[in-house]
Amino acid sequence: MRIDIVTIFPEYFGVLDVSLLGRAREDGILDVQVHDLRAFTHDRHRTVDDKPYGGGAGMVMKPEPWGEALDAILDLDGAANASNPLDAILDLDSTVGPDAQQLTRDAPLVIFPSPAGEVFTQAMARELSTADHLVFGCGRYEGIDQRVFEYAESRASVRLVSLGDYVLNGGEVAVMAMIEAIGRLIPGVIGNPESLVEESHEDGLLEYPSYTKPAEWRGYEVPPVLMGGNHGAIATWRRDAQLERTRRVRPDLLPE
Ligand code: SAM
Repeated sequence: MRIDIVTIFPEYFGVLDVSLLGRAREDGILDVQVHDLRAFTHDRHRTVDDKPYGGGAGMVMKPEPWGEALDAILDLDGAANASNPLDAILDLDSTVGPDAQQLTRDAPLVIFPSPAGEVFTQAMARELSTADHLVFGCGRYEGIDQRVFEYAESRASVRLVSLGDYVLNGGEVAVMAMIEAIGRLIPGVIGNPESLVEESHEDGLLEYPSYTKPAEWRGYEVPPVLMGGNHGAIATWRRDAQLERTRRVRPDLLPE
């Protein structure tokens, strides 16, 4: 999967070099390109924001740099699709900027993190994990000029996605969370794919509690059924524990 991220804080994404996602990048499963929005400005101060029309507090991200950044990413994509897709150049190691020459293979989905978007879920992560190319646009300040979304929609599929019902300072943390949730579902990223099956939200319930050695720790004991080797009894215990936990913590997940 190819991922392009547009941000005014590229350094936020340094963590993509570590852990499982870092290895997925090394292995070529995940190709992440981070683009500095300010590289698409043309004034001395590399301005990306201005006062809101109609007044009000805060600043709004200007449309011009966003338009150029999206063009740089989507034009390359379109060029790849217009030519023989199988011959598309997939040398994606260098940074894409206004002068970049790389091409990518598949039409992208553009995602703008926004508290006003549809809420990100495990089901959405699973759906997006099958995409070939995701483009994330990180807002800051009071957000991005509305016309950028309309322009992006004229060129690609676009989704506004919220991490939850609260307001962050910028889209970077939301994008990191989404990439981590999506990335770990891509085949090959997690060593044992079975570990993904029984997780919270995969079957609509929260996961059962987990235990490891020692069997007794500071007076707390592992439930004996988990050490008895009876797989049927273990499965029943785990299912009951899932239901009990979900009922207690997230009753909204259970059917009426
Ligand atoms: N004025 C906006 C509003 O009330 O909807 C909030 C802007 S917020 C301070 C700046 C940026 O942070 C947003 O453009 C978005 O990229 C990101 N952001 C904030 N909260 C978010 C959330 N819950 N989910 C996803 N992105 C969020």
